[in-house]
Amino acid sequence: MALQAIQSFFSGNPLDRADHLRKEPTTMVDMLQSTEAGFMLMLNGEILSDQVGAIHWLSYRQCAYLPLGTQVFLGLEDGAPRYAAELEGEPANFDGLFPDAKFRDARALGMKAGFAHPELGIVAQAKSMLSWHDSHRFCAKCGAESALVKAGYERLCPTCNASHFPRTDPVVIMLACHGDEALVGRGPQLPPGYFSALAGFMEPGETIETAVARELMEEAGVEATSVQIIANQPWPWPSSLMIGCTAEVKDKKLTLDETEIDDARWITRAQATAALVGESSDFMVPPPIAIAHDLIKYWAA
Ligand SMILES: [Zn+2]
Repeated sequence: MALQAIQSFFSGNPLDRADHLRKEPTTMVDMLQSTEAGFMLMLNGEILSDQVGAIHWLSYRQCAYLPLGTQVFLGLEDGAPRYAAELEGEPANFDGLFPDAKFRDARALGMKAGFAHPELGIVAQAKSMLSWHDSHRFCAKCGAESALVKAGYERLCPTCNASHFPRTDPVVIMLACHGDEALVGRGPQLPPGYFSALAGFMEPGETIETAVARELMEEAGVEATSVQIIANQPWPWPSSLMIGCTAEVKDKKLTLDETEIDDARWITRAQATAALVGESSDFMVPPPIAIAHDLIKYWAA
């Protein structure tokens, strides 16, 4: 049973993260080398996947002669340990090595699955964890190279003893609502013709509700009077948590921040419904992999 009312892509990770095992070095070594262990390989941010787009798990023996970099423990799947490992080298070095598998971007895996498959939650966890190690090799306090500890869930500085932990960056994404209409906009990063929910990173010291109100005022000049949290989604580029909300606003008059928003418009539920199934001649909305899709769908219904 899913914990969330709206099952977004990259949610529903089925692994038992088994935090209690992470600080047991001997157990971790035994588990790593067990015949049940499964390794997800990543190369340049892409995941080794099979023909249907599922994770192509390799055994410890299959990984023995591969040039592996960072390895992290992901958790237990029905008792079997699962790991993510960075494959080091140029993609051309591995041509033909995995004949039944292919390295794919996490978006491509989501699109191939076509629905919010729980395994995509494992992909999100692995991708964010390996990306964090890649960009946090050095201690932010003293600059010395830190070491991976606790199976990958901490980096410890050998010089100043500072601990560093994997981070998740919260992003609010919201539909402003007024009467029977909702606001969608487009920034320069969206493909031509696409409109989406407005979004922005939360800032330190904010609540979700105040971040939504600030972003709506900054980007569209509309004043939120109430905010409702609808859905949330891990988004592993590199490690965000998308928090999907709706917000009632005082009036429809827009003052756009032209540095961030090229265009914005109020849409009706009928227009949203047509756009969700690709039948709008006027504009398009993001595909189901994006939480903006879930949010528009929730509102339109
Ligand atoms: Zn340090």
